[in-house]
Parts: sequence; structure tokens; C-alpha cells
Amino acid sequence: MTTAAGGTAQAGAQPPVLTVFVGLGANLGDRGQALAQAVHAMALLPATRVVQVSSLYVSAPVDAGGPDYLNAVAQLETALAPLALLHALQAVELAAGRERPYRNAPRTLDLDVLLYGDLQMDTPELTVPHPRLTERAFVLRPLAELAPQRVGPAQLAAVADQRIDRQQSAAVWCPGVLVSGAPSL
Ligand code: AMP
Repeated sequence: MTTAAGGTAQAGAQPPVLTVFVGLGANLGDRGQALAQAVHAMALLPATRVVQVSSLYVSAPVDAGGPDYLNAVAQLETALAPLALLHALQAVELAAGRERPYRNAPRTLDLDVLLYGDLQMDTPELTVPHPRLTERAFVLRPLAELAPQRVGPAQLAAVADQRIDRQQSAAVWCPGVLVSGAPSL
């Protein structure tokens, strides 16, 4: 049976395991450490494993002031339901000292659900695909690294004027993640 989110399930069986892409960003504090710790925290989530992580990118803030961002995208496999995953990611943000004093405020850690299988949902709490996915080079560039089939050349061309530089490969900024060991599923 194929589920609404594009996973597979059998009646009465475990929840489907889906491929999810999470966007990571930070522009306060030790940004690289915050992103690396977030990857490791995601690897510890129940019924979840980190499959691969993009290079690290530096980008200018969009619609906001403040220091440059470090950005990356992580590919997960998870059996967590969409809202359960969102809440788990918000807990990781909070643990990193994330505060939300105003919209687009600088942040120690920002985690966004970019894609959740093939699910399309639009609720006040969660919209997937992420509503600004196609507007931001800092999402599309690292996502294209991990899932080139999900980002078209026209989408990349549309954000080509946004300043973004690839800094380090995943093996440098997040060593050990590509061989993340036994899945916790
Ligand atoms: P931000 O300040 O960018 O972290 O936005 C967080 C808010 O966006 C939260 O209230 C979430 O409920 C909401 N939101 C809606 N869709 C998403 C998504 N795909 N990923 C993360 N947060 C989302």
C-alpha cells in the first residue's frame, strides 16, 4: 500500500519510514558547532536516522540584518509523523538556546522541514514542502547536492543572484555522520 506521504505501509504494521530533508541554519554564536550538534541530536531522535548531510554553506541573511548564516541540509529517514518530527526539531532548537523575539530574528539554530516524503500539507503549524523552499539559495543549493532530482536547473537559476558560498564538505564539518552506524529504527 502506498501512503499519502509516498511511503509504504501495511495494514496494522509499523508506521512508514520516509525520506525527509531538514534545512539547518545559524547566525549567532558558534554557528558550525550548533549545526554539527543539531545533526547529532537528529540522529538520536526515535525511529530516525541521518542518511547524509550536505556541505556547509555561508549565506547572507534574507529579509533581515545581522551576521551571515551557516546553512546545510540533512537527509533523514524517519517513522515519526510530520508534527511529531516538527516538535522534535523544535525541541532541538530550544536546547540550542533558540529564542523567537521577532520574525526573522538572528538565531542560534533554525531547523525547517523542507520535504517530508511526497507529502503536501498546509496547516497553521506545518506546511510541507516548506513554503519558501524555492525562494532561497541557502536551501536549494545544499538540497541539490543531496537530491539533485528534487531541484531543477531553473529553480537554481532563479536564486543565482543570492550570495552563498560553499565552505566545507560534510566530512569536514560533520565527521562521522555519513557512516552514522546502526539505524535506530
Ligand atoms: P521559523 O521562525 O522560521 O523557525 O518558523 C517557525 C514557525 O514556522 C513555527 O511556528 C512552525 O510551526 C512553522 N512552520 C510551518 N511550516 C514549517 C516547516 N515546514 N518547517 C518548520 N517550521 C514550519
